[in-house]
Amino acid sequence: MSDLAVKEWIKQVIKNDEIDKYLIDGEDFINEQEIENHLNNNRKSDKQQIRDIIQKSLRIERLEPAETAALLQVEDPELWEEMYAAGLEVKRKVYDNRIVFFAPLYCSNLCVNNCAYCGFRYDNKDERRRILTMDEVRQETEVVISEGHKRMIVVYGEHPRSDADYIARTIETIYGVKKKARHGFGEIRRVNINAAPMSIADLKKLWNVGIGTYQVFQETYHKPTYAKLHPANTIKGNYRWRLYALHRAMDAGIDDLAIGALFGLYDWRFEVMGLLYHAIDLERQFGIGPHTISFPRMTPASGSFISTHSKYLVSDEDFKKLVTVLRLSVPYTGLIITARERADLRRDVIRVGCTQTDASTKIGIGGYTEALKKLSQLELANQEIDKQQFILGDTRRLDDVVRELVEMGMITSFCTAGYRCGRTGDKIMELLKSCKEGKFCKLNAVLTFREYLDDYASPETKAIGEKLIERELTEIRQNPFFRKGTLLQSFEKMYQRTVDGERDVYI
Ligand code: SAM
Ligand code: SF4
Repeated sequence: MSDLAVKEWIKQVIKNDEIDKYLIDGEDFINEQEIENHLNNNRKSDKQQIRDIIQKSLRIERLEPAETAALLQVEDPELWEEMYAAGLEVKRKVYDNRIVFFAPLYCSNLCVNNCAYCGFRYDNKDERRRILTMDEVRQETEVVISEGHKRMIVVYGEHPRSDADYIARTIETIYGVKKKARHGFGEIRRVNINAAPMSIADLKKLWNVGIGTYQVFQETYHKPTYAKLHPANTIKGNYRWRLYALHRAMDAGIDDLAIGALFGLYDWRFEVMGLLYHAIDLERQFGIGPHTISFPRMTPASGSFISTHSKYLVSDEDFKKLVTVLRLSVPYTGLIITARERADLRRDVIRVGCTQTDASTKIGIGGYTEALKKLSQLELANQEIDKQQFILGDTRRLDDVVRELVEMGMITSFCTAGYRCGRTGDKIMELLKSCKEGKFCKLNAVLTFREYLDDYASPETKAIGEKLIERELTEIRQNPFFRKGTLLQSFEKMYQRTVDGERDVYI
């Protein structure tokens, strides 16, 4: 593709009328002064005020900005301990002891933007550019399926060669892959994507091929910082085009949305407030908040000075605090912690309320297939450094992380049922808020964990996993919620069919 063609493509991406329609009297839902005021006015809450706010979260009610600002500025270590415990309790109420797994798949590192923190940025001449063909997407998917995954998040740089039509083809390709397992075939049952903001017409193309969740991170909600890190002459330089990306997705019919901020670009307390305002505006305009929130911490990226020298880099301690406040502020929203983080920290924040994570992760383009080619360790290291966006903190395989979670008393869920029987958007929000979704998910978690243990688990994981399944089955059989009507009976039949080798059985 010629440089001129790329320039022409860039000019037609942003549609101003698809920004203006979401403004409130010409203004954004992010008002920096208002956020600063909340942070300034809620510095010194007393213990009782903080405990009242915690109680509100425990009732699974979303917090207001002033309440979140108060939690963010707690200094008393004793109160933080209470907040950590409440985070876990909220998670238990809404999501039970379940963790959902996914695998990222990086399809392309071609990018027309110049984000100062990202290894894929246009100006990074050390980056070897590559975009997967559909055959390569198929090969990568096969490797991911062989690990036992059922969900993917597919990631793309912003470029005319990875436009909505390319993204749609990759989604269709991934759904089409079947790979032999110990019993029958494995497959990806849900394809989520992380891609640049698009027009409503382009988003409809993704909706038509069965996109799962559409994820866009605002990076930073702080406009002056955003302007510094994203050159104005790039598509990404338009803050508002990005801020309303998920509003457009709603209008395109995609009601399963994921927001996030890249922590380390600006003050973490401000970003938590930005995420909350984003969730509130989606609820206000469409009646549905985001399904998940992500809070990646910036990690060192090749040739990026800011990725290692930003004065806002977030410490482990503050990271745990910000995850806890998010858990308490939007109690019914999923929280995603990724393999960017080290294993020990990941364990810590799962304890305060995260609901989704990844494992066996490769973020190089073609990384899964290359790892399989049994390259020597040195060759592999060299290959990965120049084609991946940043450095991972936890490279363990899915089997190892699943086993660790079992040891922590948590069950891995590969469930994708909710989406396929219409439990999405406002329906799932209602179920989550009333703590019913966790109950359905418990049953589906057991069914999909059974599949995993029989099809993919190592002997050690299987042995310890069996004990957990037994405990879960006992709990389900004794719980009055499941004993009402025929739910328990249906589940018992489904469990037996799964044990007998039938796959993709769900409630
Ligand atoms: N190009 C699309 C976009 O910018 O929305 C999607 C792909 S981009 C690779 C996905 C996300 O990676 C970005 O939204 C950003 O938050 C994250 N990212 C970029 N550089 C990073 C770094 N150094 N450390 C951690 N995450 C980073
Ligand atoms: Fe491109 Fe996204 Fe990286 Fe920015 S964050 S350089 S848009 S891939």
